[in-house]
Amino acid sequence: MMGHGGFRKRIVEMGFIKGKTVTVLLNAPLHDPVKYKIMDYEVSLRRAEADLVEVVSEEEAKAWANNHPELKGIPSNEGEDALHHLARVKEHELTVVFVGNPNSGKTSMFNIASGAHERVGNYSGVTVDAKSGHFDFEGYHFNIIDLPGTYSLSAYTPEELYVRKYIIEQHPDIIINVVDASNLERNLYLTTQLIDMDVPMIMAMNMYDELRESGNKLNIQQLGVLLGVPIVPTVAKTGEGIKDLFHLIIDMAEGKQTIARHIHINHGTLLEEQINKVENLIRKNPEPHHNYSARFLSIKILENDRQVESIIKKLDNHEEILAERDACQKAILKEIDEDSESAITDAKYGFVQGALKETFEKTHKYKRLMTKQIDAVVTHQIWGYPIFLLLMYFMFFCTFNIGQYPMDWIDAIVEWMKELVTEWMPEGPLKDLVVDGIIGGVGGVIVFLPNIMILYAFISWMEDSGYMARAAFIMDKIMHRMGLHGKSFIPMIMGFGCNIPAIMATRTIEDRKSRLITMLIIPLMSCSARLPVYIIIISAFFDSHAALVLFSLYLLGITFSVLMAKIFSRFIVKGESSPFVMELPPYRMPSMLSVSRHTWEKGKQYLKKMGTTILIASIAVWALSYFPHHPEMSEEQQMEASYIGQLGKFVEPVIRPCGLQWKEGVALVAGVGAKEIVASTMSELYHGDIKTSNLSTLSALSLLVFVLLYFPCIPACIGIKNESGKWKWAIFSALYTTLLAWISSTVIFQIGSLILKRETTDLIHQSIKENRNMSLQEIIVYIILAFVAFVLVLYAYRRLTGKKSGCNCGSCSKGCGTCHCHDCHE
Ligand code: GDP
Ligand code: MG
Repeated sequence: MMGHGGFRKRIVEMGFIKGKTVTVLLNAPLHDPVKYKIMDYEVSLRRAEADLVEVVSEEEAKAWANNHPELKGIPSNEGEDALHHLARVKEHELTVVFVGNPNSGKTSMFNIASGAHERVGNYSGVTVDAKSGHFDFEGYHFNIIDLPGTYSLSAYTPEELYVRKYIIEQHPDIIINVVDASNLERNLYLTTQLIDMDVPMIMAMNMYDELRESGNKLNIQQLGVLLGVPIVPTVAKTGEGIKDLFHLIIDMAEGKQTIARHIHINHGTLLEEQINKVENLIRKNPEPHHNYSARFLSIKILENDRQVESIIKKLDNHEEILAERDACQKAILKEIDEDSESAITDAKYGFVQGALKETFEKTHKYKRLMTKQIDAVVTHQIWGYPIFLLLMYFMFFCTFNIGQYPMDWIDAIVEWMKELVTEWMPEGPLKDLVVDGIIGGVGGVIVFLPNIMILYAFISWMEDSGYMARAAFIMDKIMHRMGLHGKSFIPMIMGFGCNIPAIMATRTIEDRKSRLITMLIIPLMSCSARLPVYIIIISAFFDSHAALVLFSLYLLGITFSVLMAKIFSRFIVKGESSPFVMELPPYRMPSMLSVSRHTWEKGKQYLKKMGTTILIASIAVWALSYFPHHPEMSEEQQMEASYIGQLGKFVEPVIRPCGLQWKEGVALVAGVGAKEIVASTMSELYHGDIKTSNLSTLSALSLLVFVLLYFPCIPACIGIKNESGKWKWAIFSALYTTLLAWISSTVIFQIGSLILKRETTDLIHQSIKENRNMSLQEIIVYIILAFVAFVLVLYAYRRLTGKKSGCNCGSCSKGCGTCHCHDCHE
């Protein structure tokens, strides 16, 4: 049953409770109201109200039963007919949602309860969508839902609107308000808004371990009574208290809870008076008001909530209500010289402080102190930056150096398999396919599994410990200069792992402009898929400075992202950036379990990619390089004459100024699907030994830069399309990155050639010597042309962008003006 408190109570009193049979007796001429018979009483309900009562028809019941065989286990009583039995089964199904501040432990709790492996992280906004899971417990079937974290239920951010809509429209049976016990004041602010909504609620007092350790004392029982919300202490990290939580949910569902009651947050005499005035006018309308409680609506329109305003506008007496609201706001302004919105916020915080004064006793500040001390160093005005760079360098150093050992082992296994198959299989295309195509291609990239796992272990550790949020904090100033938010930094760092989740994580950036720009520059963050390519090239050409070169590549990516962000915010994406608040969660020792789980998840994903995308691409590359087959030719000649050779020759003129040849051209084209394919293709084309190529060191450098910058992989493009709502931006990101790659590589190669003197480079670089004798003038013309093209593309997109685009708040069709989100109201 849905609807808020008052309606729910009345209807239950009428006898509409779960498991009862309802018969329709009479339909009024205009289909409203409808007369029902229930438990031998006859009642009449308006259609809008009747819609809120969940009734299962006989057909539905049967279909439902067939789809839920797992629930048939609920024992049926003798003589109970099928419909009754089903209603009873459905009664044992509970939908529970987790609502709470970012970083309060919702996802950890969700994972523990459902056995899922969703991402947890020690900074805001890792969960961007509702995730659902299921499990059975004590005869109940639970559907649990992990919602995005929010600090409030106003309509300012997509998350806030999403959570609010979810609660109202999906009408979960019970809401679990997950509260971070080490940060009560701010967390309870959200609670006060949930209380306004008058929804069935339980509180999970999470991070209880930290509260215990800190030595602070909280009287949970009393706080629960004060708030009218039953509270369970939990430690989601270890699972402590989770069972109690679900026992309490069952108690609540069975109506055995005595603490749960609806309270009114007292906003003080003045505000309460105004809230009541507006509320009374709303109440003139027949219940329910689109499922919201009248008090909630009243408070929200006093706060100028646009979405609620649009609900109010649908009521018959909306003019009267809005006029009253305006009058009330004036009264508030006159009396306390404050706008109603901040007055309400202040009052809520006042309520929370009051509740805490009675129940919370601060004795110790050890943890905060430690956090403070660490922060004094790592967020230091000057030292913060070198520390950050050192950590990054250390990360890449480990990725490369420690990764070397397991890499050698895997490499040895791959070689051994190749030899085995070579000996064991008869000559012919099939053998070539297996040895060169499958083992050569897939084996060429699978050796990087350890590197990728090490990189991920570092990223996970930084996220979980809370350092990532500090990195974002110290980067804030720089980010602002780029026209971005400090918050943009976390998605950017996440991009080192994989661009796709990073693009999704931009959802936490409230400001549309910063969000779009962040999304567009994430492809310049070197994802782990590019690592295999780097490693192949670096170990062949720059072995003595491996970590340094690797580190510089990442830095180059970052530098370009800064430049691009500046250009974009100046020329392409219009609008002002809004100010920013970044919270710094206390440092936590990341649990080994969590870090190793993420690392393993990534490893698993990588292996899966090997078995699918990379395998298929390897086979395709092999086939294209094998056919048309000329047995009389040498391997080298065969390759050139094959389809892939033709394709390579076709793109070669384009990449020749970058000092690249047709084999690289093939690899780059193939890598559009996934960057690892560049590596697997190169290992195939060079038979696993790139040292045999006639690439010069300079060309190798140019290739590295090209791979770093060019084309976000196709899945990343799709991600950008989904998040920005427009194909335009996906195409734009593909175009500008490729152009950027080409220009940079060309500049590196051409200028490098000039410096290093023609003879030396050309000597090593034979094939290019024959084909290219570019004069300085030509180079300049090339660069100017490229630059003009680039500016043209920028300009075209700026013109196309217009003012309004993709609104992601989900509460309106874009630009409708009925919502309050930044997309529609810049
Ligand atoms: P969400 O943003 O609400 O989904 O929070 P997460 O589940 O991602 O957790 C945020 C961080 O807090 C992670 O680093 C968790 O490991 C950590 N965490 C979660 N629950 C607890 C807890 O009860 N105690 C402690 N000490 N840490 C926790
Ligand atoms: Mg989460």
